[in-house]
Order: sequence, then structure tokens, then C-alpha cells
Amino acid sequence: MLVTPEIDRRNRRSSRWVAGLVAIMVTSLALLGMPVGHAPGYAAGCLFFGGLFGLGAYWLSRRKCRHRLKVMNRPFPAEWAEILNARVAFYGALNDADKDRFRKLAQIFLSEVRVTGIRTEIDDTIRLLVASSAVIPIFGFHDWDYSRLGEVLVYPDAFNDEYQTDGDDRRILGLTGLASLSGVMILSKPALLAGYSGAFAKENVGIHEFAHLLEQEAESHGLPAEVPYDTVREWIAFVARELKDPQHSRTHINEYGYTNEHEFFAVLTEYFFKSPDTLKQQDPKLYDMLRGIFHQDPASLFGHSRRSPTH
Ligand SMILES: [Zn+2]
Repeated sequence: MLVTPEIDRRNRRSSRWVAGLVAIMVTSLALLGMPVGHAPGYAAGCLFFGGLFGLGAYWLSRRKCRHRLKVMNRPFPAEWAEILNARVAFYGALNDADKDRFRKLAQIFLSEVRVTGIRTEIDDTIRLLVASSAVIPIFGFHDWDYSRLGEVLVYPDAFNDEYQTDGDDRRILGLTGLASLSGVMILSKPALLAGYSGAFAKENVGIHEFAHLLEQEAESHGLPAEVPYDTVREWIAFVARELKDPQHSRTHINEYGYTNEHEFFAVLTEYFFKSPDTLKQQDPKLYDMLRGIFHQDPASLFGHSRRSPTH
């Protein structure tokens, strides 16, 4: 997500290749249609248009990278840093260099994904909590994008299958877009806020939904290179064993996780980041597996910090 000098160099190199190929293709196609007798002027025109298309392709291919470099150089508003310090324990526990990285990732996320309130006001706190939910699960990866996500809708409350926030059947706190909701995530505002308080010790709906998105992205684009293959294999085998016999489910895990393998991953992800100490004490092997998947060790992170993960 961040543009390092290496990523920038790689992008320049690949953009030059793309531009060259486009220029050659456009010039060649135009030359194929060259009328007899107009060779010199026509050929020069073909070269000119080929070059123009090549430049356009270079600009398009560099656009995202350049945009991110620009965003990374913007100053981070002091009020935003105060909100992160006050609300996001994960951020508060990071060292200065990692805090800087977290802020840049949050800035990039908010510059590329719209956060929209539906029948409810949203402010910087809500935007930053959405961005934090996106950044926390992928903070251990160095080259990861939520490429499917375009917008996060924030609802005033829990909602039902018809996306209504009134009535007795409201039970959904968050939803990650599939099919008709492709590219969209919905989060209940009170549930999002509760995820960053001590209200629910193991729950964080924002992290839960981004864990779903991470899994969906991984299915289509593959897992980040940092995730060891053996750990993934071990995880898949563990989940299959665990879900085969839900009667013997682990009592410290929210039973909703036993709905299916996707919910199991999302429930364990929020637990891992919200109450890592509890998970590590209850189930050190499971904690180690998740540490391997996310390339992060939140129990040590919070252990080194004087702050509680659920303040
Ligand atoms: Zn879920």
C-alpha cells in the first residue's frame, strides 16, 4: 500500500515497458493502413500518434503510484493524530516509525475509499476508525491493496437483510460487498465505535469486515508473499477439523465463528487484534498460527506498551 523507493522504481520500469509496447502496437496498426503514395508524411504521423498513445499509457500506469506519493507527502492533521491516540489502542502501542507508517496508510486509504454516512452524520473519528480497521489486519504486509473496495457506507444502527435500520429483525452490524454490493462495505456506526472501546472485549466489527475482504482479495489475487505457505496449510486443516464438530467448539471463541470457515477467520481476526493476550493465554497454538498468517504479534505489541488494547 505504501510506495517505497523500490515500489516506485518497479512501477517506473513496468510503466516504460507498457508505454513502449502501446507505442509500437499503435504505430504498427496505423502503418498497416498506410495508403500507397503518401509514405513519408503518413509514416511520420503514425509515429507521432504511436508516441502520443505511449505517453498516455505511461501516465495511466504511473497515476496510482504518483497519487500515493503525493498523499504520503501531505502533513497528517494534528487533530487526526489525537483521535488515533485516543481511540485506537493498536496505533498508541506502535513505535514512532510504525506510527508514521500507520498514518500514511490511513491517509492513502481515505484518499482512495469514500466513507459515506447513510442517514447519519460522520466525522473524522468515524473516517479514521474505518481506516484503522483497514490498516490493522494488513499492517504486517508490505505490498497489499484492498483493490475491490470503493466505498464504505456507515449506517446509523444495525440493519436487516433489506438494509433497513428499523424493525425488530435488525441483527447485521457489518457487511462486505459481494455480488450486487460489489466494491461496497456497510458498517453500523455504533458497532464500529464499540469495536474501539472496551464494550465488547473480543469484537471489532470493522476489523471483522476487513478480514472478510482480505480473504476475498486473497482468493482472487493470492496471499501476500509474507504469509508462509505452511502456516496457511496448517490453518486450513485446523479450521476444517474445528468446524466438523462444532459441539466441541472452544468456549472462548464467539460461537458465531462456527457458522462457516469465512466467519471463523473473521471472528478470530478481530479476537486476535482486540484481545491478543486472552487468545494467547487460552490457546497459544492458535495464537501462533494467526501470528504467522498476519505477520504480526499484537500480544507483544500491547505488552511493550503501557496501554490496554481495550481502553
Ligand atoms: Zn462476518
